[in-house]
Amino acid sequence: MLNLIINSMSWQISQLKLLLRRFMQPIKEIFPLLSQPRKVVITTHQKPDGDAMGSSLGLYHFLVQLGHTVTVISPTNWASFLNWMPACDLVLDYESQAAVANEAIEHADWIFCLDFNTLNRTKRMEEKLKNAPGQRILIDHHIEPETDKFSYGISNPEKSSTAEMVYDFIIASGNDDKITEQVAECLYAGVMTDTGSFRFPSTSANVHAMVARLKEKGLQHSRIHEELFDNFLENRFRFFGNVLLNRMEIFYEYNTALIAIPQSDLIKYNIKTGDTEGLVNFPLSIQGIKLAAIIIDRGEERKSSFRSKGNFDVNTFARKYFNGGGHFNAAGGQNKESLDEVVSMFIKAMKESKDQLSNYQF
Ligand code: 5GP
Ligand code: MN
Repeated sequence: MLNLIINSMSWQISQLKLLLRRFMQPIKEIFPLLSQPRKVVITTHQKPDGDAMGSSLGLYHFLVQLGHTVTVISPTNWASFLNWMPACDLVLDYESQAAVANEAIEHADWIFCLDFNTLNRTKRMEEKLKNAPGQRILIDHHIEPETDKFSYGISNPEKSSTAEMVYDFIIASGNDDKITEQVAECLYAGVMTDTGSFRFPSTSANVHAMVARLKEKGLQHSRIHEELFDNFLENRFRFFGNVLLNRMEIFYEYNTALIAIPQSDLIKYNIKTGDTEGLVNFPLSIQGIKLAAIIIDRGEERKSSFRSKGNFDVNTFARKYFNGGGHFNAAGGQNKESLDEVVSMFIKAMKESKDQLSNYQF
């Protein structure tokens, strides 16, 4: 009888475990497993920015020290101002190196997914990641992640950056001694770019404490700023001049600025991946502007970026009107319609949001 009860209890426990496995387990559950070398893939969102690349390479330099075999894969190419990051030359571009990247994904025990909340942010890698036999692990700060797609993970939209979360991961797993100068440089680049150089409200005391610790580890922060911001070519600034003069429209009644860029401008000024980064922030410096939008005709799609100040929620705005998402004050989307059509959609969306746009609250 007792045997029967024990058997039935252990069956129930194993069912419960199976059920739990369908939900994301807290990231701390993998801390005890970190000491056993594994095959690891780290990936991030398409067109990785400073945080996506910085958090991925920061985690890379950490895991390598623990004896893991690590491959970093980007779904697409990235801006050349990220190339200074240590080990950036080892990052695979899925668009041009799919065969070798697929091999790594198929054999990975763990697949870390950094700085994105839904697998479709990895573009053509999505199906491969979905069908991978290894366990997917999420570290991210976007809202509403697809938690059912991950075995382990942490999602915290209050965090400034994924780089800050990788730092927390290293510290919480008891590995402060593994923060080398390389780890520090990558994580600093991530947190600095995602906080707009420490100005956004997400810049918490923990962010500053983290940077203080990275400085103690030998970080030369001025060098990172120079690498990221003082390495552009002349054409980018000629392009900015043209955009601010000819492509920017201000809707004072709606506290809104819109920049719409035709593909012909990108061709004329020889604009490459990353050259448009930061452009959307310019109109936010105009008195009274609460919402800034940029819509760029990238040929295959119309890519938009939204930035806001105070209580205007661009994440909801991007989800509702532009197939996108992101954060409360920084989001993006993409559309298949023509540039003119997307501009009309934006103007309509702006008009529908007049109430939220007209009263400013910090
Ligand atoms: P950015 O405007 O710099 O490309 O992106 C700002 C934020 O919005 C980032 O956190 C990015 O992950 C998110 N984001 C940008 N484009 C999209 C998109 O098309 N879909 C979703 N879900 N998020 C996006
Ligand atoms: Mn980020």
